[in-house]
Amino acid sequence: MFLKRIEMQGFKSFADKVVIQFDHDVTGIVGPNGCGKSNITDAIRWVLGEQSVKSLRGNAMTDVIFAGSADRRMVNMAEVTLVFDNSRRDLNSELDEIEVTRRLYRNNGEAQYLINRNPVRLKDVVDLILDSGLGKDSLSMISQGNISSFAEAKPIERRAIFEDAAGVSKYKKRKLESLSKLERTKENLDRTQDILSELE
Ligand code: ATP
Repeated sequence: MFLKRIEMQGFKSFADKVVIQFDHDVTGIVGPNGCGKSNITDAIRWVLGEQSVKSLRGNAMTDVIFAGSADRRMVNMAEVTLVFDNSRRDLNSELDEIEVTRRLYRNNGEAQYLINRNPVRLKDVVDLILDSGLGKDSLSMISQGNISSFAEAKPIERRAIFEDAAGVSKYKKRKLESLSKLERTKENLDRTQDILSELE
């Protein structure tokens, strides 16, 4: 699956609207220390559903919103959109282009998720992305430090990495969801049985 474009506004160091177009199979982003290269990968991870502020190198989720600089006031909202080429139908949609957007407001902490500009739940974004193997925890994003932690990983942790790469993890996640649903259904059945016994 091909990431065609990133659009950002108010995200970390990107106060103004920035559009990064990826026209080639391989793109390198270069720049001096602290210019915002890692903020771009943070933006991708954020839209893919990252909920860990530590992974986003902050202390609170609102730290992703532009906090102001010597010559700019802070802003109230961060918005990032990833535009994917879906002509190969890697994502479960009939559309050739899929836009996934995440927004966060500073004043009330409200989060919004959109797929092709329609409001959705975080779960809808995660489910859409999970099928493509592009999830936030997948091996599609290798951060600084990941390589040494792979090398130092215990066998059980390494197995989880292989399962991610082989696409097994999504089935494990769905199995856990189904088991938890079954458990809830069993509890409801027990409760219904109790009520029935009282009525008899
Ligand atoms: P390096 O090459 O050293 O890894 P980098 O190019 O990857 O650097 P980043 O870590 O992406 O740089 O960007 C760091 C910059 O982003 C810092 O100047 C920091 O002040 C700025 N920054 C991070 N969060 C915010 C925010 N919420 N508001 C404004 N600026 C921010």
